[in-house]
Amino acid sequence: MSFVFPAQEVASVPVHGMDQRFPVHRIYCVGRNYEEHAKEMGATGREAPFFFLKPADAIVSAPATAMANMPYPTLTQNLHHEVELVVAIGTGGSHIKAADAQRHIYGYAVGLDMTRRDLQNDMKKQGRPWSIGKGFDHSAPIGEITPASQVPGIAEAGISLTVNGQVRQSGNISQLIWNIAETIEQLSTAWTLQPGDLIFTGTPAGVAAVVRGDVLEARVDGLQSLRVQIV
Ligand code: MN
Repeated sequence: MSFVFPAQEVASVPVHGMDQRFPVHRIYCVGRNYEEHAKEMGATGREAPFFFLKPADAIVSAPATAMANMPYPTLTQNLHHEVELVVAIGTGGSHIKAADAQRHIYGYAVGLDMTRRDLQNDMKKQGRPWSIGKGFDHSAPIGEITPASQVPGIAEAGISLTVNGQVRQSGNISQLIWNIAETIEQLSTAWTLQPGDLIFTGTPAGVAAVVRGDVLEARVDGLQSLRVQIV
């Protein structure tokens, strides 16, 4: 096959302890998947999960030993952090049952669903798509992926984010409204999941703004942490 110009490189994420990288197909995100965060965003009660996407090349990745740089994006005065557990799909499928979801998971990472909150809120108010608030360049920093077999306790892992050493977000994966398996079940009824898909599973409470120079450290117990500086 030949192209009229060189094709873009495939976006990819380092895998902990391996030279081979995880090639990214799509990035799915779950909205309002922790009760306290749903409340801070104005929701009441349990609602069906909803999804949005980011482009695969929004990935910003760095090995756990290094600091990733995220350029402060254009058009916003209110760039928010959302620390999230990311599920990496290794085996595709559609209409996957929650009971079968585990065998579709390659591994896990910690990620940041960076959000131009002012633009997202404007779009919400007008009933327009969120893409400009969520799917912008460099909006998906992600740490190294750890294969699932190495993190058997992920469903009860702590999740946290510090900014310049101060804790901003702190929770536990057990607080997910829709757990990992239920999320895969619901998501795979709407899209056929493919190897290389990433699922950002939602953020606990405490989302807030960052500015240039801030250093974010995102952690999920059992996974490699992610350090990002806003530049
Ligand atoms: Mn999010």
